[in-house]
Amino acid sequence: DYGPAPESAKEALAWLEAKGGIAGPWVGGKRGELRADMESRNPATGERLAGLTKCTEAEVNAAVKAARKAQPGWEKLGGHGRAKVLYAIARGMQKQSRLLAVMESLDNGKPIRESRDIDVPLAIRHFYHHAGAAQLFDSEMAGRAPHGVCGQIIPWNFPLLMLAWKIAPALAAGNTVVLKPAEYTSLSAMVFAEICAEAGVPPGVVNLVTGDGETGQALVAAEVDKIAFTGSTEVGRRIREATAGRNIPLTLELGGKSAYIVFDDADIDSAIEGLVDAIWFNQGQVCCAGSRLLVHEAIAEDFHARLKRRMDGLRIGDPLDKCIDVGAIVDPVQLQTIRTLVEGNTAGKTYHAACPLPATGAFYPPTLITGLSPSDPLMQEEIFGPVLVSTTFRTPAEAVELANNTRYGLAATLWTENVNLALDMAPKLAAGVIWVNATNLFDAAAPFGGIRESGFGREGGPEGMRAYTKPAKLAAAPKEQKA
Ligand code: NAD
Repeated sequence: DYGPAPESAKEALAWLEAKGGIAGPWVGGKRGELRADMESRNPATGERLAGLTKCTEAEVNAAVKAARKAQPGWEKLGGHGRAKVLYAIARGMQKQSRLLAVMESLDNGKPIRESRDIDVPLAIRHFYHHAGAAQLFDSEMAGRAPHGVCGQIIPWNFPLLMLAWKIAPALAAGNTVVLKPAEYTSLSAMVFAEICAEAGVPPGVVNLVTGDGETGQALVAAEVDKIAFTGSTEVGRRIREATAGRNIPLTLELGGKSAYIVFDDADIDSAIEGLVDAIWFNQGQVCCAGSRLLVHEAIAEDFHARLKRRMDGLRIGDPLDKCIDVGAIVDPVQLQTIRTLVEGNTAGKTYHAACPLPATGAFYPPTLITGLSPSDPLMQEEIFGPVLVSTTFRTPAEAVELANNTRYGLAATLWTENVNLALDMAPKLAAGVIWVNATNLFDAAAPFGGIRESGFGREGGPEGMRAYTKPAKLAAAPKEQKA
């Protein structure tokens, strides 16, 4: 039962309007009276969706203070008490799933098919899973205690899902949180905050601070007990520098340039469908996107020809149209970054899908680039758009060498009908996640994360929960010292 929920963009925006714009309920001001320092726009149309407050350092510190005050009470609720609230959040999200999906597609530009069938259900599943984990906390995590207040910073590519990955395990373990959504995409987080209030989350347990990188910096500098960040490797590095010497637990989920390896014995139709998902899901704005195709040279010509035909058949357009495969790029600035990277390429051969593009809006066609050397910047750097680069290999050893020739290590995908080959290859690939004859498989119970410059720490599963805890003895130590 989805309950009363908006069918359209108009209704979703009316919902926001009724809530008085952004941040009203959280800072104690009257609704609708808050500052609109920044704007959120629909990338498919350029239309202004809402004004957003850019939280100042003082506002960030006030949120951290509220979280600090609320934390002991939240922890004392115990695993069962917290589970009750987390189940209520999950049910609240289910009720509002259509609103959440429409908001996500409006704000981010992703096809409604994806937000409705993937982002929102997975985010809800994360809360159900962690409600269960909270129930088991006292038995399974005996001897562990929450960190306290967690500062969490997320990117714009999966606004609600990244929020769920951060908030659900933190709350389950007894922490309170201050989360900063990305500046382009704060709206589903606003809906989420309303859901929390209705689900009976005590005041101060979940805090949102909207804003840009400066607000993020203020959160990193604030008196938090743990920082969890998902975003670019560049900002991840800055956060690591800023926290150096503070002995603060840090998890970083960063960029990637994941290999998608197709052997000559692979089921080609499935490998092509997998590739469509790997690189054109969410317009390629996916940290673990299979953005580097390595295809066996014996089948490369045929594979590329079939891939191009499939690319031409993709439907690009209005993210709220249920038939659309590829939506809009999150923001015109990001669109320009993709254009500059692709147009700056002189070494390779670029193929843009022949599918028609909307006349206006931040759209970019599915693109394939072949003929690049392994050291070419386009083979090495994350483009974070619907652009696939491709090269060939002859032997499994060469495939491993090419796949690992990257500073990143988030994911890798293998396609072969030879199980022995897959079992031999998988451990040799330097990546946090390896998929075989499948791609983009995620589950709240399975840990996810990278190695090398893709970051460290895991989110999801028992490892993800553990990252939000510390030994209970450490938790007690400062109090003993004070006594
Ligand atoms: P970004 O690093 O520019 O921004 C991420 C967040 O950090 C935003 O909320 C931003 O406001 C904030 N921020 C910016 N500067 C900051 C600073 N100096 N201090 C603190 N916070 C700051 O990344 P993005 O462009 O929003 O997202 C795309 C990147 O995220 C890609 O590189 C992608 O691979 C990565 N990503 C990784 C994963 C993963 O799980 N590994 C998942 C999704 C996205």
